[in-house]
Amino acid sequence: MLELTDVNAWYGDSHVLHGMSLEVKEGEVVTLLGRNGAGKTTTLKTIMGMMAKSSGSVEFRGQELLGLRPDTIARKGIATCPEHRGIFASLTVMENLMLPPTLAEDGMGVDELEALFPNIFERGKSKGTTLSGGEQQMLAIARILRSGAKFLLMDELTEGLAPVIIEQIAHTLNRIRERGYTIILVEQNAAFVKSIADRHYLVQDGKVIDCVEANQFDTRRGQINRVLGL
Ligand code: ATP
Repeated sequence: MLELTDVNAWYGDSHVLHGMSLEVKEGEVVTLLGRNGAGKTTTLKTIMGMMAKSSGSVEFRGQELLGLRPDTIARKGIATCPEHRGIFASLTVMENLMLPPTLAEDGMGVDELEALFPNIFERGKSKGTTLSGGEQQMLAIARILRSGAKFLLMDELTEGLAPVIIEQIAHTLNRIRERGYTIILVEQNAAFVKSIADRHYLVQDGKVIDCVEANQFDTRRGQINRVLGL
């Protein structure tokens, strides 16, 4: 479904992706695991067409994405849940949810979203930023599900959240994957991704240095921890 081959990317003269290659098949959940600065967020930005300078190949359903504009890429059904959630402070929860345009007809409807995120709907008239961190994260996830995208890029969903909230997010992601969504999860929290992902790409110095299948997670935990700097 999505294949990155020998992707390089730069911020100005600063070369940060050094031959990133990975593959995600339809319906899979894969993670990019690595410490701060490894190049995980930059990989998501490159997929979304947000890097001014990049090379290599990013193929989605057999079509090259590199060189396309972010809005063109979004219309192909790829959406991103950014690291800092992007909740608008002056808008209510429902306004935040309904603001982005739907890009495909088969996005989740309000009823389905309410079943998945009942807490968010209970707070519908509150201002976005009166929500807790976990509720804001759920709102950010609900928002991209409404857009109709079926390929989701999620950046550090668990950052700064309490363990009980992280468990709720894991439960929600498993329900989303059951509905056939394809997900790339950028994470530093290995315990969180263990119950969710099919495969883990270990990222260091702007490239994938190894790949760990879900059933190898426990036996290769030492290597995963080293890559995460634990
Ligand atoms: P983090 O968890 O810190 O976001 P990451 O693995 O996602 O880690 P990236 O954000 O992709 O890492 O950063 C990769 C490298 O690019 C780092 O050295 C970072 O300092 C640099 N970098 C990130 N954003 C910019 C930017 N806007 N301008 C210049 N350099 C940047």
